[in-house]
Amino acid sequence: MKRPFETEERAAFRAVIKNFVEKEIRPYAFDWDEAGAVPWALHEKLGALGVFGLGIDERYGGLGFDDPFMRVIYAEEMAQCGAGGVQAALGGRGISLDPIEKLASQDIKDRCLKDIVQGRKGSSLGITEPGGGSDVANMKTTAKLDGNHWVINGSKTFITGGMESEYFVIGARTGGPGLTGISLFFVDADTPGFSRAPLTKKMGWWASNQATLFFDDCRVPAENMMGQRDYGFIQIVNNFNYERLGLSAIALGMMKVCLDDSIEWAKQRETFGKPMIKHQVIRHKIADMSAKIDATQAYLDNICWSIEQGDLPVAEICKSKFFATKALEFCASEAMQILGGAGYLRGNRVENVYREVKVLAIGGGSEEIMRDLAVRQMGL
Ligand SMILES: Cc1cc2nc3c(=O)[nH]c(=O)nc-3n(C[C@H](O)[C@H](O)[C@H](O)COP(=O)(O)OP(=O)(O)OC[C@H]3O[C@@H](n4cnc5c(N)ncnc54)[C@H](O)[C@@H]3O)c2cc1C
Repeated sequence: MKRPFETEERAAFRAVIKNFVEKEIRPYAFDWDEAGAVPWALHEKLGALGVFGLGIDERYGGLGFDDPFMRVIYAEEMAQCGAGGVQAALGGRGISLDPIEKLASQDIKDRCLKDIVQGRKGSSLGITEPGGGSDVANMKTTAKLDGNHWVINGSKTFITGGMESEYFVIGARTGGPGLTGISLFFVDADTPGFSRAPLTKKMGWWASNQATLFFDDCRVPAENMMGQRDYGFIQIVNNFNYERLGLSAIALGMMKVCLDDSIEWAKQRETFGKPMIKHQVIRHKIADMSAKIDATQAYLDNICWSIEQGDLPVAEICKSKFFATKALEFCASEAMQILGGAGYLRGNRVENVYREVKVLAIGGGSEEIMRDLAVRQMGL
């Protein structure tokens, strides 16, 4: 389906990412996934393309402009490497970048931001706690002021990139109950009182690491508070909209993997005397997948257009996320059926995508929470 908003500049950006995925990632993606990590040099190669610099000022190595379409293009094209863990390993820093640029002190930005944007160092956002991720308002980690330091106590879990990141943006309670009362802190990984442990044996996203972080009287300088006291979380709410838009775009890219690999297989595989692509049942599966891809793509294009017009279509972003992950669940299942036994073997994109549907349906705001938020945005 044609993309009405694909300007020359965006098409060129897409071509650059597509080429990078084909040459630098796809030949090695499954090996890295099995090994549980990507070489750090890849972070720097990708950083050099400017992909972490959308919305970041040029003095910190950013592009100096933002473009929601390019955010979608980046996520969608990267997803077509077929190993979500590789994409998560490289892009995990994305959700901490905007908060650092918008809310961190000048000193912190001067010291760290360029290294993160250019891929030399990693950063993570730590909101989810062992006690729960959906109910952020119930956050238990605390930060108490002691002289000119904040003392953080508590724990975070499922933190993407957490085993390798040198910098963290951490939510902690500084005030009363609820979403107000939560502040954000910049924590260096070598701060005394900070420690971490990996989450292992995951269903997918093997090439990326997720960590449980521990804060045991972890003292950070007072100036490491990011943004306004008690309103830190509220100040980064928009960040979650971009994260969700990105996750929807990853789902779109993965759906395209399902469709492309299904077509390729169905053309070459013969059953009952003819190529599978000639069987009507298979053709209908292809049609259904293709329709869901078109709908998701049009939905995301429209959301990006709204953002470009200056709107923030929160309800649509939430709806697009669960729409996209449900559509992906369908496509992954149909693609597996088309590939049959061959799809069940490791080392093909469909097998990988099938295992990685759920992390998109749960992470960054689960399908249930997205539905709730969308309906609330509708004033109900
Ligand atoms: C691979 C991976 C990477 C992640 N990376 C990060 C990261 O970098 N940083 C970070 O902060 N977090 C991260 N997360 C955490 C993620 O955001 C949470 O898993 C998510 O928000 C859900 O929280 P939970 O797992 O604690 O589920 P819970 O909040 O315990 O919910 C469990 C289930 O119940 C449902 N549920 C909860 N409340 C309701 C309700 N009221 N009505 C109906 N259903 C409900 C939820 O939708 C969910 O399906 C990551 C998670 C994964 C799996």
